[in-house]
Amino acid sequence: MGKYTGSLCRLCRTEGKKLFLKGKRCLSDKCGVEKKNYPPGMKGSRVNFRKSHYKNQLREKQKVKRFYGVGEKQFRNVFTASAHKKGITGENLLKTLELRLDNVVYRMNFAYSRNHARQMIRHGFFAVNSKKVSIPSYSVALNDEISFREKKRAAENVKAMLEDVKGLVEVPGWVIMDSANLTGKINALPNRDDISLKEIEERLIVELYSK
Ligand code: SF4
Repeated sequence: MGKYTGSLCRLCRTEGKKLFLKGKRCLSDKCGVEKKNYPPGMKGSRVNFRKSHYKNQLREKQKVKRFYGVGEKQFRNVFTASAHKKGITGENLLKTLELRLDNVVYRMNFAYSRNHARQMIRHGFFAVNSKKVSIPSYSVALNDEISFREKKRAAENVKAMLEDVKGLVEVPGWVIMDSANLTGKINALPNRDDISLKEIEERLIVELYSK
């Protein structure tokens, strides 16, 4: 399936949950979920959804995929790799997604959204351990240092963006920031409680893919 190019707010409304796909707008009263807290479609506000267990499993998977901005094939690959790791598969899945470079860059307040972080990473704005990395799905590891590359910091619009994005999201406890140098270090690996997407029942995703 091709890349989704429709309304991002529509995705949140479908899931009935804020997925924070549009940066500052998500924190304002212009948020689509705040304004129309019912599924998209003309009769959305009046539709009474009776959910089957399968639908719950599917929706849980879609929520996580959309939150992290991962396509179906890539998501399935992450799931398969997670199932082969030690530990609980669902937790492994969420932790792996949390350690994606695009997620980390966003959570370090270097971008408005994960989508914005992906664009910047592709354009070479970031380095891991002083080496440029342009792959948004790159998985960061313990003790890695993620930095905003010096040559990309100088432009006025970048400076303004960095000022504007300051404090947009809470920096996770497993990242130690050196804000003056626009660098952060992975100080620990995230636990289940550290996962950005709260109230997710990952066991439903495991059940879905285990059929
Ligand atoms: Fe989702 Fe953000 Fe749109 Fe709100 S503003 S519906 S959180 S993308």
